[in-house]
Amino acid sequence: MVDTKPVVFFVLGGPGSGKGTQCAKMVDQYGFAHLSAGDLLREEVILLFHFISLIDQKQRDSGSETAQLINQYIVEGKIVPVEITCQLLKKGMEKKGWAEKRFLIDGFPRNQDNFDGWDRVMGDLVEVPFVLFFDADEETMINRIMERSKTSGRNDDNIESLKKRFDTFKKETMPIVDLFDSNGKTQKINALRTIDEVFEDVKKAFEPYL
Ligand code: UDP
Ligand code: MG
Repeated sequence: MVDTKPVVFFVLGGPGSGKGTQCAKMVDQYGFAHLSAGDLLREEVILLFHFISLIDQKQRDSGSETAQLINQYIVEGKIVPVEITCQLLKKGMEKKGWAEKRFLIDGFPRNQDNFDGWDRVMGDLVEVPFVLFFDADEETMINRIMERSKTSGRNDDNIESLKKRFDTFKKETMPIVDLFDSNGKTQKINALRTIDEVFEDVKKAFEPYL
């Protein structure tokens, strides 16, 4: 049988390292499908808070409970339980069209629980050739996020949440980057340059898939 599994590239890096920006360029120039786990969670909160398609009271209550939970995790810079995130990613992939696609999954897997949960549900369904890791120092990332906070409207783009997000990134996400690295499956990109300079290296990493 011909192997038609979709190909998934995980895109990791600290807050403000440029994941979303670089993924958008891959979408524009090469037609990759991009799913940001953080964006999907934020959209889910909005959806649930507006009770779309939730008809009875019980559903509404459980919907707003989930929305509050996700929101709390985000403000605290903590990682949402994988059952929620993985379902959103799977649904998002199905919506974009499943077969023979190149997916960029940005901001996931963020910890061991994410990794294991993904593996259980998606492990046999897709190929993951590598993780793209955007390497940047904290000072640069703080400056970028504080600039972004003027317009992003995100409730975690403030210095208190940001400190917590960095902490989580170092403690929980870096071990995942290292895990892929130990299998020769992390492609590290120096993210401390202009968008176009970084994109040159991003293109090189994806060369076999363009
Ligand atoms: N988040 C999560 N699981 C994910 C992705 C995001 O729990 O798989 C939550 C987490 O609280 C994180 C927040 O969403 O701090 C924002 O994530 P996003 O990737 O949007 O932030 P970025 O790193 O791009 O600034
Ligand atoms: Mg992002």
